[in-house]
Amino acid sequence: MARRRSSKRRRSPMLLFVVLIGIAHVTSSCSSPGGGPVVTNNTDARLEVSRAESDLGRGNVAAAAAVFDKLAGRAMTFTDHQLASRVLLGRAECRLRQGDPGAASEDLLRAETRNRQVTSAGEKRSIDARIAFLNGEVDLEQRDWNGAFAHYKRASDVPGALDADRLNHRLALTAKLLNRTAEASSYRSRIKTTRPEFAALDARFTAPPPAPATPSTSTATVAVADPSAPPILPRAKWNARPATWDKDPIGKIWRVTVHHSATPFDSSDTAMTAAHISGIQRTHQGDRGWADIGYHFLVDRAGRIWEGRELRWQGAHAGNHELNAGNVGICVLGDYSSRGLSSAQESSLTRLLDWLRKKNGISSGNVLTHREIREHNDHGSSECPGPKITAFVKRYRAGTKAVAKG
Ligand SMILES: [Zn+2]
Repeated sequence: MARRRSSKRRRSPMLLFVVLIGIAHVTSSCSSPGGGPVVTNNTDARLEVSRAESDLGRGNVAAAAAVFDKLAGRAMTFTDHQLASRVLLGRAECRLRQGDPGAASEDLLRAETRNRQVTSAGEKRSIDARIAFLNGEVDLEQRDWNGAFAHYKRASDVPGALDADRLNHRLALTAKLLNRTAEASSYRSRIKTTRPEFAALDARFTAPPPAPATPSTSTATVAVADPSAPPILPRAKWNARPATWDKDPIGKIWRVTVHHSATPFDSSDTAMTAAHISGIQRTHQGDRGWADIGYHFLVDRAGRIWEGRELRWQGAHAGNHELNAGNVGICVLGDYSSRGLSSAQESSLTRLLDWLRKKNGISSGNVLTHREIREHNDHGSSECPGPKITAFVKRYRAGTKAVAKG
């Protein structure tokens, strides 16, 4: 590992790099104010990217992920658009291999934006092919066979850009899942050398799908031993890592803030949701340097409530220390910029809010959206959590005036 050089010459770029990571993540965060882009040239990053790409090619995901994670914070400041795309693509592939397709999909969107600005048509097309292929992989993980087939097909429009056997295998697999048998065997016949990976994927996706999880069957253990609480899946259920340093106690709880995660995520599969939440914790602890996942509770599309940061600790979600004090952070998983809540989500959110209010004596007027709490405190604006969740929160406040403090 020659990455960690420590001559004096390197010291100040490293410091700059730490600052840049902060800026890069602040701009992409729903819970922090924005910062202006800083432009730097990164010629030696090219070498690191090539090495990480070959690590990834050899299946050494952990080593590649460490490099891509480090560089991705800087990628937005790269003046070389192609390099930025490759970093984001590399990180997307690592996220996928680590079971976090939601995070992968977010990086792919960013890679696509950067790739639009690449001037060499040949490079642009080859990166487009990789983006299309990885979008196919995300769709496959999320069991969207139509989307996956279309993305693989688009990837195959750039001849020679990708591993042909792998591409033909994915086209054969998704055609089969779509019951397009003739196409499936045609693609299958083009595979020159089969690999263990192909058989493993075939077995995984052609086996009968798991029964959809429901809140009542997946809550054998609960996070909160309070019979009046709604079912809450404990941290252990998503393999939470311990907090990295001491946190502030939350103090007297007197308000609640509702967020969305602003990342497309729709799965109702327990394992995938657990991996997704663990990915959020990784981002909050790793990239943003927080002690733990920022939110106290997370609500998935199926309406399941997951425990985030333990309620006794102050969260990291509203924007600053003052706004987080005494404030419970609830995050609805997914991007709600234009869509609405599912009815399962509405009913669990209502139960969660009712319970928190009753337990802590929170007035309904202190149940706010992220945007509202920022604006009420002259702390700038935010699009979080989108107009439809905002309408829900307003309805909730209007409809619950009668709930007594307790
Ligand atoms: Zn937010």
